[in-house]
Amino acid sequence: MIQSDRLLESFMELLRIDSPSREEEEIGKHLAKCFTGMGLDVETDEIGNVIARMDGKGEAILLTAHMDNVKPCRGVVPVVEEGVVRSDGTTVLGSDDKAGVAIVLEVLHTIIEHELPHRPLEIVITVQEEIGLFGAKRLEASALHSRLGIGLDAGGKPGTIIVSAPSHNRMTAVVHGKAAHAGICPEDGVSALVIAAEAITGMELGRIDDETTANIGSIHGGTAANMIPDRVELRAEARSRSKSKLSNQTKAMVDALQETALKHGGTVEVLVERRYSGYTLTEDDEIVRLIMDGMRSLGVEPALIATGGGSDANVFNTAGIQVVNIGIGMARAHTTEEYIALSDMVSAAEIVLACVVMS
Ligand SMILES: [Zn+2]
Repeated sequence: MIQSDRLLESFMELLRIDSPSREEEEIGKHLAKCFTGMGLDVETDEIGNVIARMDGKGEAILLTAHMDNVKPCRGVVPVVEEGVVRSDGTTVLGSDDKAGVAIVLEVLHTIIEHELPHRPLEIVITVQEEIGLFGAKRLEASALHSRLGIGLDAGGKPGTIIVSAPSHNRMTAVVHGKAAHAGICPEDGVSALVIAAEAITGMELGRIDDETTANIGSIHGGTAANMIPDRVELRAEARSRSKSKLSNQTKAMVDALQETALKHGGTVEVLVERRYSGYTLTEDDEIVRLIMDGMRSLGVEPALIATGGGSDANVFNTAGIQVVNIGIGMARAHTTEEYIALSDMVSAAEIVLACVVMS
C-alpha cells in the first residue's frame, strides 16, 4: 500500500528546502501545509515545532521526527542512483531526519487513500534537534495525548528498535593558574595548561565500558610563548546508559582536575550540566511490544539495540511518553557521504503503518 514513488517525491521536496537548525521556518510552513492539506488539525508552537493530529480509535500513538539538518546542508542536490539517495557530495543529504518526516507523510497519505481504520495519531515534527534537542525540550509535552510513540530518527536497517540511550553530562571547566614571565620569573607562575594536561592524562577517556563513554572535546588557553598561562578552558562530556556509572565518571573527571589544580597551587571551576537523561526499555514495555508485533506481522525480525547517542526520544521518555526510535536506513549521517536506500524507507513506512492501523 505504501507508494514508493510518492514517498520519494515528498522526500525530495523536503530535501530541497534548506533547514539548518534555527532556520526551520520555511520547512515548518511546508509541513503545516502538507498536514492541513490532508485534513489534519495543525499547530506550530512558539519555537517552531509542527504538531498535527488525526482522530482515530483506541490508544493514541505519537509519530515523531525532526525537520532540522546538520551543516553543511544548504542547497542540497539530491541524486538518486539505483534506488539510493545521496547528495552531490558537497553537503549532507539531510535524510537525518527528512527521511523520517517523509515516512510519516507517506503513512498518513496511505491511511487516507485507503481509508484504513487507525489509532488516533499525534505527529510531532521538531526543530533544533541537532543542536541540543531544543525543540523537544520546549515542546509542551503535557498537551500531548499519547503515552506511546515511534521516533523515526535512527540509522540501521528496518527491524532495528533503539530501546536504550544514555544520559549525557556536559562539563565546562576553567583552570586558573598564575601568570608570570616564562623567562624572567617562571617560578612565580602556575601554569593552567600544565594542570589541565596532567589532569587529562590521568583521566580514563574514550570508551569506558559497553555503556559509558567520555571525552575532552576542546581545550583553549594561553596567550603567548613567553607567558605562563593563567587560564585554560576545557569542554568535556560523559555519557552512560547507567546513571550511577555516569555520575562516577563525571566525578572522576572533576576530581582529577581539582586534585591536580590543588597539587600545583591553582584552582578550577567546573560546571556540570545534564544535557538529557537516558532511558532503557525492554520487550516488556508496551511500545516495544507494539512495534515488535508490527514488524513480525510483516515478516521483519526485530533487533533491539542500545545506542550511545541522544535524540528527541530521550526528552519524550523523560516527560513520561514512551518513545523509541526505529531504524529507517539512514547511513553515514552528519557527513557528506550520507545516503539512504528508498527500499529501507518503504520498509520503515510499512512498519509504522502496521503499528498504527487496526487489524
Ligand atoms: Zn537525527
